[in-house]
Amino acid sequence: MLRVGFIGLGAMGLPMALNLHRAGLLVGAWNRTPGKAEALAAETGATAAVTPAALAAGCDVLVTCVSADEDLLEVVDAVAPALPAGAVVVDCSTVAGATAGEAAARLAAAGAGFLDCPVSGGTEGAVAGTLSIMVGGDEADLAKARPALEAMGANIVHMGPVGAGQAAKATNQVMVAGINQAVTEALAFGQAQGLPMDKLIAALEKGAAGNWFLSRRGPTMIRGQYPLGFKVGLHAKDLEICRRMAGELGVKLPLVEMTLLHYERLEPASAEEDISALFRLKSDMFSPGGE
Ligand code: NDP
Repeated sequence: MLRVGFIGLGAMGLPMALNLHRAGLLVGAWNRTPGKAEALAAETGATAAVTPAALAAGCDVLVTCVSADEDLLEVVDAVAPALPAGAVVVDCSTVAGATAGEAAARLAAAGAGFLDCPVSGGTEGAVAGTLSIMVGGDEADLAKARPALEAMGANIVHMGPVGAGQAAKATNQVMVAGINQAVTEALAFGQAQGLPMDKLIAALEKGAAGNWFLSRRGPTMIRGQYPLGFKVGLHAKDLEICRRMAGELGVKLPLVEMTLLHYERLEPASAEEDISALFRLKSDMFSPGGE
């Protein structure tokens, strides 16, 4: 049986680790804030590792889901010396393709494989085990890690070599920016018309404008609630990656530029709120004296 470890028990990582446990694959976890790994261990019987290296030493596949690029490289440096030869690190964080390449090189030097496996489907998809997983890396590493990926996702697409998964995810994040802009702006406009908002969502979600974000986040945003979800700060991090990638092609993407500007205009405290908090900014436009 494949021995799978997990690092990064956040909003996404914890439910993903629980699905690995349900599939009988999870041997242990490590989290920077130890209480989260201890709670998971109490619930599942998996080990709460004291260090990343202690976890890595007993794993064939190690899944990581941490915040950003430097966090991934920090974890990679901690686990690389301890991983058994031929083990594969599966990174589900969203980072730059170049960072995925750097992680792969550092792990290859230690005799381990690497797959960039960013995910889409939100915390709901993580809980349900229905994530869409965009894979970059070698076929052989993918074959080894596949049972773990199938425990966390329902749609696993091999995009190409290391970095290709992150390029696909960056594409997704440009689209998420546009969907957030469209849904928050349109609902603020509908609200300003005095429409019954729950009825409006019920009507729109069954028509041509229906989409995941409208159905999952619409009902809360119209009540001024923005439960996580996906943090503004994390999407801003992703859009900075998209900005750099577009810049390398000599292009500025309007959706990326506008959304980054709008996220900056939200209160700094909004970095920890769900991205649907953009609705607040859009509603303000319709207030007396609003923009
Ligand atoms: P959270 O902020 O909820 O969790 C982040 C996790 O990373 C925590 O376990 C945190 O540990 C850990 N971490 C952060 N920095 C370090 C570090 N330097 N060393 C070790 N561990 C670290 O984020 P999410 O779970 O929402 O997101 C995780 C990744 O998945 C991000 O890259 C995000 O962009 C991506 N993602 C998020 C989605 C979402 O809807 N939320 C959807 C798809 C992808 P600690 O508990 O100590 O803070």
